[in-house]
Amino acid sequence: MTTGGELLHRYAGAMVQVFGQPQLVLASGHGCWVTDVDGKRYLDLLSGIAVNALGHGHPALVQAVAKQAEQAIHISNFFTSEPAILLAERLLTLSMAPAGSGVFFANSGAEAIEAAIKLSRRTGRTRLVALEGSFHGRTTGALALTHKAAYREPFQPLIPEVTFVPPGDEAALRAAIDDTTAALFVEPIQGEAGVRELSADYLRLARELTSRHGSLLVLDEIQTGVGRTGHWFAHQIADIVPDAMTLAKGLAGGVPIGALVTFGGDVTGLLAAGQHGTTFGGNPLACAAGLAVLDTIEREDLLGNARRVGSLLDDLGVPGVSATRGRGLLRAIELSGIPAPAAMAAARDAGFIVNAVTPTALRLAPPLVLSDAELEGFIDALPAILATAGTAP
Ligand SMILES: *Cc1c(COP(=O)(O)O)cnc(C)c1O
Repeated sequence: MTTGGELLHRYAGAMVQVFGQPQLVLASGHGCWVTDVDGKRYLDLLSGIAVNALGHGHPALVQAVAKQAEQAIHISNFFTSEPAILLAERLLTLSMAPAGSGVFFANSGAEAIEAAIKLSRRTGRTRLVALEGSFHGRTTGALALTHKAAYREPFQPLIPEVTFVPPGDEAALRAAIDDTTAALFVEPIQGEAGVRELSADYLRLARELTSRHGSLLVLDEIQTGVGRTGHWFAHQIADIVPDAMTLAKGLAGGVPIGALVTFGGDVTGLLAAGQHGTTFGGNPLACAAGLAVLDTIEREDLLGNARRVGSLLDDLGVPGVSATRGRGLLRAIELSGIPAPAAMAAARDAGFIVNAVTPTALRLAPPLVLSDAELEGFIDALPAILATAGTAP
């Protein structure tokens, strides 16, 4: 059998190097555990970056995908399918969208953002507002709304007229939004910025200002949506209704999918026949997977599980941890005096997959099926992991 070391060597000779060198070559997963090609097991506390909501190999998802694959994987958007209609209806119900709302299915988060950008152009305005620290994706449109200079600068010029404001700064938000603003894009919790939650008051102000100026409020729930925070959608904590919401990551439990939800008839009507499209988006395979994910979250009360298990991380009291942040099963552990990449490597050697989301913070976004005992196993191991990382050369 080919070893992980050999495969990683061949990876370097076969791939465009945008991801650098991967950490491991994974072979399989079961529940919250993954196994690499050398047979070593890891507790997966990242779930493919908030994607494998049901963990690996959940029978409900496996059966839904297998059954749909037998029936039809793809049909094109000249036709439609029952799974697509059912999933759209289900998303509208869960997001408490008013009559006239709609769903556009895509294949990734960035594509959902692209659809939202095009939607915003149909207001007749072109100016966009986003937040510092934002991450909305890597396609050129989504990249224009993504704040990190290292991602943006090699590809300039991007679409113009994007203003970035500091998150949480109410005065800056008031100053940025006026009657020429097409849309404000906000992540209720900024995942890539290190799991930084915006206050309910700030989100309500965002709603108030965009409504007052006739601008669209687009909530990017690609990372925070579909139960990740212990709520179906994170903005429901602030009790606001957006004009549009983007989803992807966990929605189909690992099968590629993206979605734009438009709220109300006026917004939904902005995109007319022929103004947007996709080949793969809304295919019955991805939609059947999405339905299985939503059914399972409901049947197994995974919202409650995310809240309960996630709360074990509220106060860690572990040396080297200066703070914890986040909601449900989207969490960050802020370290003091220990570089996050070293902590990530030490965790991996100890059998735990986490992510150095910033130079000083680890991100956890485990499957929503994670048990108390599994997370306690990590918490018990954390002091030794951080001690190792703290003394690493
Ligand atoms: C991951 C992510 C995206 C981009 O999704 P892709 O599927 O990688 O294109 C956009 N916004 C947020 C908040 C994300 O977490």
